[in-house]
Amino acid sequence: MYQDFQKHLQATLQQIKDDGLYKNERVIITPQSSAIQVQGENGPVDVINFCANNYLGLADNKELIEAAKKRMDERGYGMASVRFICGTQDTHKMLEKAISDFFGTEDTILYAACFDANGGLFEPLLTAEDAIISDALNHASIIDGVRLCKAVRYRYANGDMEDLEKQLQAAQAQRFRIIATDGVFSMDGNVCPLDKIYELAQKYNAMVMVDESHSAGVVGKTGHGVTEQYNLRGKIEVLTGTLGKAFGGSVGGFTTGKKEIIDLLRQRSRPYLFSNSIPPMVAAAALKTFELLTRDNSLQDKLHANTDYFVKKMTAAGFDIKPTQSAICAVMLYDARLSQEFAAALQQEGIYVTGFYYPVVPQGQARIRVQLSAAHTQAQLDRGVEAFVKVGKQLGVLK
Ligand SMILES: *Cc1c(COP(=O)(O)O)cnc(C)c1O
Repeated sequence: MYQDFQKHLQATLQQIKDDGLYKNERVIITPQSSAIQVQGENGPVDVINFCANNYLGLADNKELIEAAKKRMDERGYGMASVRFICGTQDTHKMLEKAISDFFGTEDTILYAACFDANGGLFEPLLTAEDAIISDALNHASIIDGVRLCKAVRYRYANGDMEDLEKQLQAAQAQRFRIIATDGVFSMDGNVCPLDKIYELAQKYNAMVMVDESHSAGVVGKTGHGVTEQYNLRGKIEVLTGTLGKAFGGSVGGFTTGKKEIIDLLRQRSRPYLFSNSIPPMVAAAALKTFELLTRDNSLQDKLHANTDYFVKKMTAAGFDIKPTQSAICAVMLYDARLSQEFAAALQQEGIYVTGFYYPVVPQGQARIRVQLSAAHTQAQLDRGVEAFVKVGKQLGVLK
């Protein structure tokens, strides 16, 4: 049996390679940070990292590491259970409370990942009588979560409020409606127009769900996410997010919002009921993250300053930068091959970035995505811009 299937798999893999879409993993041999070493053919190579989701630079933070070590000594390595059987320690409850306080929400439920939070969100809450109205560029995990639910599906073009209004009108046929959107869209770095979404939700009697994965810790004056940015703290029914990006970069996800919604998820959400609890050490380090972020605003301020600095320098150098309201800076090159050549040349210069092209972004919209971090020093940012300019001239992107 396997022989035929093996041939089929080999042909599929070859097709992926021929299309230039085959993904190779680069092996890092240092902690995750703004300066890392990767394994090269002739030994370790130093690079400045511009492609991690390490927005607040907490992935190698000493206080988080200490909190994790201490908790592991006190409470052991793993929980060996799902939450409701015997997988809940006080640390989990404290972390859920800290997340609710951070977002100004009523209650929070933890998951092993935000992928699970989104995967387990819709199905327990909505039935075939209801409607989900989803932004066309939503994250894969929202799309999968919507697929697992029997509700009627509507889709609107990315951030297009006229289209959203049309879909909301059509969705009046259903009993309950929820609009689902990413807070920050990861390819352009644009923030969802939550003020207008909220207005339309009021007008058409809909609820709103926002995935704060790329926005929490980043967007808003004090980095409290899109609800801070739009002055809608406590007004949005459901938020989801990850502990794997700004909040320390480890693992874990959460859903936070109205208390009845969270309560029903605890009863019926399948990734919560049938998957292991996050380890106490991870919960403790995440808890420390929220303590750090409420102690002062230095990391969020540093991230905002770094993003402004980089975007200004790159724009002044003549690059075509997508307007960004987050820590994602898309350097537009438009041509797929050029984006790959550009990224490879930057790596030769010790600058670690990723080039994206169709189908990850629309046809003819190839780009390099730069992700800024509070961990970047000004010297690292300058070095990044300098390398971009050098390669830009070499490849004829800059005059
Ligand atoms: C990264 C991301 C996720 C997945 O988060 P994990 O905790 O890594 O599973 C979900 N939604 C969005 C919008 C993301 O960017």
